[in-house]
Amino acid sequence: RRAGWAALRGQPSATRDGTKVQLMLNVGLALELGQLDATGAEGIGLFRTEIAMLARGAIADVAEQAAVYGRVLDAAAGRPVVFRTLDLGGDKLLPGTPVPEEENPAMGWRSLRIGLDRPALLRRQLRALLMAAAGRKLSVMFPMVATVAEFCTARAILEAEVERVRPVPESLNIGTMLEVPALMWQLPELLKHADFISVGTNDLMQFVFAADRSSPALAGRYDMLSPAMLNLLADLAAQARAAGVPLSVCGEAAARPLEAMTLVGLGVTSLSMSASSILPVKATLAAVELPAFRELLTSLRRTGGAEPSFREPIAAWAREH
Ligand code: PEP
Ligand code: MG
Repeated sequence: RRAGWAALRGQPSATRDGTKVQLMLNVGLALELGQLDATGAEGIGLFRTEIAMLARGAIADVAEQAAVYGRVLDAAAGRPVVFRTLDLGGDKLLPGTPVPEEENPAMGWRSLRIGLDRPALLRRQLRALLMAAAGRKLSVMFPMVATVAEFCTARAILEAEVERVRPVPESLNIGTMLEVPALMWQLPELLKHADFISVGTNDLMQFVFAADRSSPALAGRYDMLSPAMLNLLADLAAQARAAGVPLSVCGEAAARPLEAMTLVGLGVTSLSMSASSILPVKATLAAVELPAFRELLTSLRRTGGAEPSFREPIAAWAREH
């Protein structure tokens, strides 16, 4: 099986019937960049900028940040990179950065909420990204966006920084993560303002099911392959496609073969995952005849709404095919 996966490395990813699927890497540290060539990933779909800061234990200044982001773009050598702005707070705390005592830190003062309340922090990071990407393509996305207004405020802060930096990037794409369910009911407006959407299924699942993603007692209780998640993602994929806004998934769900093929079956054409999953997911997708699998998903969603999960019939179909 491994020899078979290695042969897939240099090939573009597609389903058996020829539908292209972009497979990208989730990365947090510059030392992981070698995995781009090792896996044959098409680019970096999620660069978690907070990881390097957590590793060094402090927020780096603008020049240091720009050097890190520049090295990432160098290693990508023209392949797309999506930088996510700082996703601190919750379980990702920096020593010396005061955060309030909260009963529910995952739903507390974290991520873009900190960035909007401490705009100097956000501005410095955005300036570093713009400096690193001078003359090159830049994609930036904001985490834990809950309202269109938050996204538009963050976008405006970035656009104001563009006016101060020379030379500017060759192109600039500004997107949002979809991790907070509230965005699902703001899609028509959101799709007017966001250049792309990337679904963070780790946080999205925990908020959709009100189930702490780190609770061992709840692990396995709610399933990504449930009617709720499939209906949500099918709606999202349909609306994003109708608006012509690229949609990808960068949560852990994209890294598991059954979930990955289901996401593609629902209309997602870009998946971002950790390095070890790229080849297994590519091999799985290459075996999927998408029109037939879509029929299965449609019939499951039509008739199986009372099931807790469609994992069994999806797994059975995968084994048969
Ligand atoms: C997610 O929530 O799915 C995600 C990709 O972000 P993180 O895992 O870093 O919270
Ligand atoms: Mg998240």
